[in-house]
Amino acid sequence: MIDPLSPVSVLKGVGPKKAETLKRLNINTLEDLLYFFPVKYQDRRNIKPVFSLIEGDTALIKVQVTDIKGGHYYGGKQSPLKVTAKDDTGVIELIFFNPKYYLKSFSVGKYYTFFGKVFDSYGSKKMAHPDFTPLDDLTGEDFKGILPLYSLTRGITQNELQRLQRQVCGLDLETEDYLPEYIVKDNRLCSLKYALNNIHFPEDEQRLKEARFRFAFEELFLFLTSLMLHGEKLRKENKSHRYMAADSIKELSLPFKLTGAQERVWNEIQGQMRDKLPMNRLVQGDVGSGKTVIAALALSLAAQSGYQAVMMAPTELLAKQHYGSISDLLSPLGIKTGLLTSSSTAKERQEILLGLSDGTLKVLIGTHAVIEPNVIFKDLTLVIADEQHRFGVEQRIKLSEKGKAPDIIVMTATPIPRTLASLLYGDLDVSIIDELPPGRPEIITTTVGSDNKRDEMYSNIKKLLEENRQCYVVTPLIDESDFFDVRSASEVYKELTEKLKPYKVALLHGNMKAGEKEAVMEDFKGGKYSCLVSTVVIEVGIHVENATVIVIENAERFGLSQLHQLRGRIGRGTEISYCYLVSEAQGEVSKQRLAIMTESRDGFYIAEKDLDLRGPGEVFGTRQHGINEFVIADLRRHYHILLRAKEESIKLIKKDPDLSSYPLLYDRVKTIMAKASM
Ligand code: ADP
Ligand code: MG
Repeated sequence: MIDPLSPVSVLKGVGPKKAETLKRLNINTLEDLLYFFPVKYQDRRNIKPVFSLIEGDTALIKVQVTDIKGGHYYGGKQSPLKVTAKDDTGVIELIFFNPKYYLKSFSVGKYYTFFGKVFDSYGSKKMAHPDFTPLDDLTGEDFKGILPLYSLTRGITQNELQRLQRQVCGLDLETEDYLPEYIVKDNRLCSLKYALNNIHFPEDEQRLKEARFRFAFEELFLFLTSLMLHGEKLRKENKSHRYMAADSIKELSLPFKLTGAQERVWNEIQGQMRDKLPMNRLVQGDVGSGKTVIAALALSLAAQSGYQAVMMAPTELLAKQHYGSISDLLSPLGIKTGLLTSSSTAKERQEILLGLSDGTLKVLIGTHAVIEPNVIFKDLTLVIADEQHRFGVEQRIKLSEKGKAPDIIVMTATPIPRTLASLLYGDLDVSIIDELPPGRPEIITTTVGSDNKRDEMYSNIKKLLEENRQCYVVTPLIDESDFFDVRSASEVYKELTEKLKPYKVALLHGNMKAGEKEAVMEDFKGGKYSCLVSTVVIEVGIHVENATVIVIENAERFGLSQLHQLRGRIGRGTEISYCYLVSEAQGEVSKQRLAIMTESRDGFYIAEKDLDLRGPGEVFGTRQHGINEFVIADLRRHYHILLRAKEESIKLIKKDPDLSSYPLLYDRVKTIMAKASM
């Protein structure tokens, strides 16, 4: 038996260098590898002979490349790339309209699979922009099953990863099931071992379904159980603090009138703050709906009543942003506000810690730094977490343990239907700010498919940059990938550095160190760069009023809610703003989804439409990046599983509140929480 926690270097073919590469995918142990699930599958049981293809078929073929043409420049334009390939039965042409990105992908004499829709032109068979995979080693030997496809990083190929998964699935690992046996039985889940094997190398759809069902259940069950483990502790206790009445506190002098929705939500909040039981409230409001001022009002109420309050933001930039706007509002009332992040100096930190412990510092704003054990409050009664991911629950809980039954507000821009929210956030009450402040500029959203529209887009961007505006460009991947047919950030960055000259372009991606990221964003905000090319790291709350354009490359790769969030980065000032959704995807659903984005700016509407459209998904599709950050579980498709998982976890916690009879499960919950709250 082999310990699943052994390092990946015990596998054949994994030396120190490969181990380093795997580490970038967060794969350190055999178990990590096993839990690195495929993002999609290719059904190799059904390779069609070329001669049998007819117009309109969507098919997988396995062919050898015999000729590569095109990709030449004529007057600044590149001609399409035409790849000719054959199998034993016939010849087909594969066409790519943006040759630059494909030119290096093919070589004459090599084998590939192509998956796409067939059309007939001038009597010859063609596919435009098919998905493709080079066939070397493992797959060259005529693999006839369902092939797993993984997301990659530079330094490892699809084939290598498949082979490693093959290897690890073949080992005799000591994988003991951490789910209680009765739960596995009652919910007719398959065994852990079976599920792991079949999520990677399913023999058929049925087995894959069983495996996915098991992991979806498990994921939700573990998540809910950990939520409840903590939640139990928080509730019920009467609070000892009492806030002052509305007529005896000084009002903030706001530069604007609250919207009706803000007014309503603030009343819900202050009402409950004055209640006997602690508040646990989720405030949902679309990007730009004005959540910060609601936070300021609550912080002011706590501070004026003589207590302390803390607000936590997910990034340093956001923390600084909040600190700026909130201290501006609070200082005229004589309320002292502090900022604490990992880059605070020792002296600043000391001063803050002192102020917190003697009670002179009433309001603290910061990053995760505020959770550290040495941050001790004299009398903390209000905790606010901004833009919080669901998986940050643990942090929220640590923070609230710094006070005695404090009131808690969680703010998010992710629209989650009420039913789901109450399940996911336990007993949180929900307030919704469903109205934008007046005077928001129009955002013109355009889809860009063909090449000349791209040129139009760039010339409009240049015009805006000339007017000193700034621009975001977002791509789904950092580096070029031999598997995903998408534009990468580094590629786009290189290209735009040329194209947008003399304007300066910056690159931002998730693999950069936190400090580097913040510095780039800070510089962008300060106007040092005109254009910021990034992966989705900018999604969380960055506020640059001067940025009035966003380009989203391979827009079909993003969930609608995510597109909505991204678009929310612009239209923050008073100027008309532009959102370009670039996509060459031909599918009807892709087109409809992007059309929804051009139709509406309402996050809730968009989330609902997305749900309608995606419907009961197809197993063999790409995983969508939607509102949920679960790996397998899809909250909309797996709603019934969610309900079942919830029921089971309630039952279990009632029976065994500390999970003392289920040590394996307890460990698992712990690791999951620890990993999740990075
Ligand atoms: P979010 O909900 O995305 O966190 P913010 O709180 O950052 O939104 O607010 C976005 C912008 O709207 C800020 O510049 C803020 O000052 C402004 N704002 C908030 N409320 C109002 C209002 N009632 N009237 C006008 N502007 C407002
Ligand atoms: Mg905000």
